[in-house]
Amino acid sequence: MACLVQVGAGSGGMAVLDLLGRDSRIDTILLIEPDIYKPHNVHRHYFPAESCGRPKADLAAGWLAERRPDLRVEALVADLCDPARAGRIDEMVSRADIGVCAVDNDRAKLHWDWLMRRHSKPWTLGEVLAGGIGGFVHMFVPGGPCFACVASQLQRETKVDDSPPPDYSAPGHAISEASIPASISSVHAIASLHALSTLALLGDEDGRGWDSTTRLVPLRAVPGIFNRALETVNLPFARLADCLNCSPGKGGGDLLEAFECLNRAAGS
Ligand SMILES: [Zn+2]
Repeated sequence: MACLVQVGAGSGGMAVLDLLGRDSRIDTILLIEPDIYKPHNVHRHYFPAESCGRPKADLAAGWLAERRPDLRVEALVADLCDPARAGRIDEMVSRADIGVCAVDNDRAKLHWDWLMRRHSKPWTLGEVLAGGIGGFVHMFVPGGPCFACVASQLQRETKVDDSPPPDYSAPGHAISEASIPASISSVHAIASLHALSTLALLGDEDGRGWDSTTRLVPLRAVPGIFNRALETVNLPFARLADCLNCSPGKGGGDLLEAFECLNRAAGS
């Protein structure tokens, strides 16, 4: 029986949590999620409209309890990066056998990476590409490549999005959207693969059959990007000897420093 710690219970995270929570190999789930359920979440989520105003973490715990009364669930309503909650989050991570990351910003992913490496825990990450054209499923094991190793080899753009939210009250005004929302079908497709990779990693430290750190899964054919839908690409990333996040002497836990290192790595 395994204990799983997950951060994030948004539309993708909740789908992963639901799938993993139904698996009899898992008997304890520790969940960290700060957000309150809002009316605009309803059409992409599992909970009814009357649940608006309650913490997503508590709603998720209730959802799991209804389906698996034998499952132990602890829900923490907290921001992963909140220093005031670091002690409690650290204690949760220390008890887990495996971690699941379902957040959508690189700052939180880097912090999760640091926590997982600090406690030598394997973990998984699912990422849906803008527009839902595909996604990544990553598996990380102790001593293997870290999130920054992988992100820099993907040459991903990793920066904090400080752009203001779009102003819908001013028609005709320029609207800068950070990304095109993915369809819920795309989100659930990647969430299902994320759950499967987590179970594979749980059964075997190397993730039997998942013989690479990262899988790129195109969900749509997009000219110039993906020739075909569902033509999965294995990306066997190695640990970078000079990784600015995980090589000896680096990534000592200073989140902002690690984040700046990742930005420099991505831009080099
Ligand atoms: Zn690294």
